[in-house]
Amino acid sequence: MRRIANLIAGKWTAPQDGKYFDDHNPATGEKIAEIPSSTAADIKTAVAGAQMAQPEWGALPVEERAVWLDSIASALEARSDEIAELESRDTGKPVALARAVDAARSALNFRFFAELVRELPDELYKMKDALNVVVRKPVGVAGLITPWNLPLYLLSWKVAPAILMGNCVVCKPSRLTPLTANLLAEVVTEAGLPPGVVNIVHGSGSKCGQALVEHPAVGAISFTGGTSTGRSVAAGAAPLFKKLSLELGGKNATIVCGDADLEKTIPGAARAAFMNQGQVCLCGSRLLVERSIWDEFVPRFVAYVKAMSIGDPASCDLGALVSQEHRKKVESYVVLAQEEGGTVLCGGERPTLEPPFDSGAFLEPAVIEGLAPDSRSATEEIFGPVVTLHPFENDDEALAIANNTEYGLAGSVWTRDLERGRRIAEGIDTGMVWVNCWLHRDLRVPFGGIKNSGVGREGGRYSLEFFSEPTNICLMEA
Ligand code: NAP
Repeated sequence: MRRIANLIAGKWTAPQDGKYFDDHNPATGEKIAEIPSSTAADIKTAVAGAQMAQPEWGALPVEERAVWLDSIASALEARSDEIAELESRDTGKPVALARAVDAARSALNFRFFAELVRELPDELYKMKDALNVVVRKPVGVAGLITPWNLPLYLLSWKVAPAILMGNCVVCKPSRLTPLTANLLAEVVTEAGLPPGVVNIVHGSGSKCGQALVEHPAVGAISFTGGTSTGRSVAAGAAPLFKKLSLELGGKNATIVCGDADLEKTIPGAARAAFMNQGQVCLCGSRLLVERSIWDEFVPRFVAYVKAMSIGDPASCDLGALVSQEHRKKVESYVVLAQEEGGTVLCGGERPTLEPPFDSGAFLEPAVIEGLAPDSRSATEEIFGPVVTLHPFENDDEALAIANNTEYGLAGSVWTRDLERGRRIAEGIDTGMVWVNCWLHRDLRVPFGGIKNSGVGREGGRYSLEFFSEPTNICLMEA
């Protein structure tokens, strides 16, 4: 059991009011750490530290900052086993997933942005009598607020482009999963990054997240989390005219056409529904299946899901949900789905497991059919191992069901006919659609949602643009 500290202006700092939260491993219930329950006072000190460091950091050539990103990437790569282990203990996710996804992507995020900036052409616009040169300046201090489902993966996705563009950052990771943010704090300290460039303050969203959003010296807020929290973040940031990036919830459709290759589609749709126990914003939690293959698809899909192993995160396909509280929320949707007329084809129960996992927050993956597409369980984000099945007769009906939510984050289409796949993809009102794959990521492409799934885009140059202010300089011969 360890007690962790905030990293403020390069110093390990206890919370000013001396209070701590307990951090638990949700797979066992074991207490694994105490983390600062920081307040607005700690945020104020961290923002001051970032402000002190920013002029010098922002004045470095971007190529020099890219070298710092490379060093951080190398240090994270060297600790990838530890990252996987910590991420699994903090979130309950399978270690193999944490190694392949969380640890790998966290290091890659730094490497990727460092390489991208080296390849970016200058932004120049020639006129007959003048030349426009677009210069990108740092915003200043950026506030980065992240959720618990992919803790270091999402934090590094923001820290890397933010500091690359010359900003100094104050990070507020989820209080449920602080350990890898603390590892990043160790990495930047050991690498010798100038003090104050990266500050990490642990605590609750209501106390220190809100304080960060409302701090007048923070010029940009990059937030990933739930839609209702996003609403309050937007309300806090708007009167101060901050730059704001919101990556919010989703209720994504997986559309399976009658001609899909089921050998590939069934594992693909199951992965989309249940990866990380269904706790990925992009998860395909509504599975729309063309009526012509319904009778074949449904039993095969259910058999596939029933065969997934659940339990010990060191060896199983599925681990625990992030907390007991979150499991109760997901279970309440399984009950609601039945009240709304749904039939549970498998899962939705707590599995019987041997100690030390017998009191962990596990839930068998649930497949539910028979729900109206506009029911609450089929339109609200559950963010857990629950997928609802819906038949459709034709593409128009598939699109009507897919688009019938407040969300607009992602989706996938499965068909042997790429032209049809592309046509359906274009009709889905989301920021991202995959055809015959899911979560196949090229870090250069725009990432983000429409409707209540967010505002703005991350990824590649979109992130670099968010974390900078363009100044156009129009040059004319004297
Ligand atoms: P959340 O409850 O909205 O929390 C996200 C972060 O915001 C946490 O660090 C939280 O602090 C903080 N926070 C809470 N209230 C705040 C406030 N008033 N002001 C500022 N910050 C505040 O979300 P979550 O439960 O951690 O994560 C799950 C949600 O994230 C799902 O809806 C999922 O779809 C979404 N998500 C979206 C994406 C995407 O890219 N679109 C990616 C991943 C997850 P605490 O420590 O107190 O919780």
